[in-house]
Amino acid sequence: MTNIKKNVKEILDEIPDEVKLVAAAKTRTADEIMAAIEAGVEIIGENYVQESLDVYQLVGDKAEWHFIGHLQRNKVKEVVPIYEMIESLDSKRLARKINKEAKKINKVQKVLIEINSGEEEQKFGILPEDAIEFTKYVSNFGNLKVLGLMTMGPRFGEPEKSRPYFQKTKKIFDQLNGMGIDNIEMKYLSMGMTNSYKIALEEGANIIRIGTKIFGKREK
Ligand SMILES: *Cc1c(COP(=O)(O)O)cnc(C)c1O
Repeated sequence: MTNIKKNVKEILDEIPDEVKLVAAAKTRTADEIMAAIEAGVEIIGENYVQESLDVYQLVGDKAEWHFIGHLQRNKVKEVVPIYEMIESLDSKRLARKINKEAKKINKVQKVLIEINSGEEEQKFGILPEDAIEFTKYVSNFGNLKVLGLMTMGPRFGEPEKSRPYFQKTKKIFDQLNGMGIDNIEMKYLSMGMTNSYKIALEEGANIIRIGTKIFGKREK
């Protein structure tokens, strides 16, 4: 049995107060998620809609929910009412759909734009060269609020290999910040996972998303 509480406490002790910890909870049970919350986790990150609706039934508003996986448009309707933030906005079509569903329930949905900093190594996200045009496009939606950027970077291998991807994303973050686009706030930079969060913090992340180091190894 993984010692979830001990793992959470170790991470919380280690990271600066202003950094938000997202517990990446894909494939984890409601009991595991509750253990993390009891140890001080305030934000749960989920990748799969149906799975998250199931655990949401049990965990509910004891945590804040962030969607961190690739979101299909036909699932947006189920995500918008529950999720505080969608960290993985990765296309114009998805932006239009989230805006439409948020409008229906009179919500302004907080989002981060996912940057495909790894380019060919990564499947989803906005390419760095398209980031400014994409952000301007999204700024026009009344029921979306862009609060920053998210990136994955490489999942495995040498942590140091992640650094250039994080640097690239931070550069876009600073550039967008300096542009003062209406309705856009560059407040959060979500980068770093179990193998790379220390590097991500050095490169300016203020949200880190950790699964394995909290819950132990995953089956899938
Ligand atoms: C699974 C996942 C994480 C956490 O990965 P670990 O290596 O288990 O810490 C972070 N971000 C996203 C988008 C994920 O899917």
